Amino acid sequence: MEEFDRLVSPEMNQGETEELNLRPHTLEEYVGQEKVKENLRIYLEAAKRRGEPMDHILLYGPPGLGKTTLAGIVAQEMGVQIRITSGPAIEKPGDLAALLTNLQEGDVLFIDEIHRLSRQVEEVLYPALEDYALDIMIGKGPSAQSIRINLPRFTLIGATTRAGQLTGPLRDRFGVLLKLELYSPEELSRIVLRSAGILGQPCTPEGALELARCSRGTPRVANRLLKRARDFAVVLGDGNIDRNIALEALKRMDIDELGLDELDRSVLRAIIEMYNGGPVGLDTLAAALGEEAVTLEDVCEPYLMQMGFLTRTPRGRCVTRAAWGHLGLAVPASMDSPADSVQQTMF
Ligand code: ADP
Repeated sequence: MEEFDRLVSPEMNQGETEELNLRPHTLEEYVGQEKVKENLRIYLEAAKRRGEPMDHILLYGPPGLGKTTLAGIVAQEMGVQIRITSGPAIEKPGDLAALLTNLQEGDVLFIDEIHRLSRQVEEVLYPALEDYALDIMIGKGPSAQSIRINLPRFTLIGATTRAGQLTGPLRDRFGVLLKLELYSPEELSRIVLRSAGILGQPCTPEGALELARCSRGTPRVANRLLKRARDFAVVLGDGNIDRNIALEALKRMDIDELGLDELDRSVLRAIIEMYNGGPVGLDTLAAALGEEAVTLEDVCEPYLMQMGFLTRTPRGRCVTRAAWGHLGLAVPASMDSPADSVQQTMF
């Protein structure tokens, strides 16, 4: 299945520019992530009082949880501009140098997927982060000279789905590390109601909660389900998203009562049917399903693990008893050890 076809994909789909309107602009509007917000408020206040730019921030967590949104809020709170780019987009050291030299004093530079920066680019970034300077080599061989260019003081906000893939030296240069967690259904239903309000779409709290429960802990998915439910409400109902319309929409979108879509279920089914419940390596599994390993790892697995259907072991991925049950399959006798029934938490 193509990633873009996936309704519950937390990646931003093409044409989802409408999403921009749904983005919260202040910490007050940003729902959930209380611990992150609380700390960030203090860091922002301290930086403002000192009259200095905010320290460099690393945000990590699965896609669609609000990293870009939070970077925008930091810029807004500090009253500065934000430049948005991504690790793979910065191909050469020169690209980064161009970005950095164009910043104004205090600006925020947001680099999404920062774990995908090349080594050469990363090395240019080190002095920029530490001393607000660029070291440029002029000439080649023994006569080569290094010239230092001063940069405006800026804040780098890096976002990554995997903090573990960042090199040590890069990670150490971030003064603030913030981990975003999957959202609770209650928080997601607040997000659905907020978005429905912005879109002028009537939605009952019960309808919002049904959509929220199937949004795999991810605001981007919640907003997407809301937009689809809106279509069903107009065509099949009276325009209002109530509990029945939400349930009908989810059923027609092939999203089950726990928020798993066809790809999630096929991951579980493949491990059960082809590998007897596991363990199976990620790459083998991805090849068997014809999917990218990163999609499975970043998108499917965090949620399947949080729901207690999947475990990661040193020997590979395994499904739990609960997965057999969820797919309506009889649990094999070999799974009858009590350890398997323990729910696994994320990460
Ligand atoms: P990421 O950068 O982590 O992939 P985004 O910041 O692009 O995620 O967020 C995806 C969408 O989800 C945003 O457009 C926004 O509408 C919504 N969103 C994310 N976090 C929140 C939140 N805490 N409160 C309300 N809406 C949110």
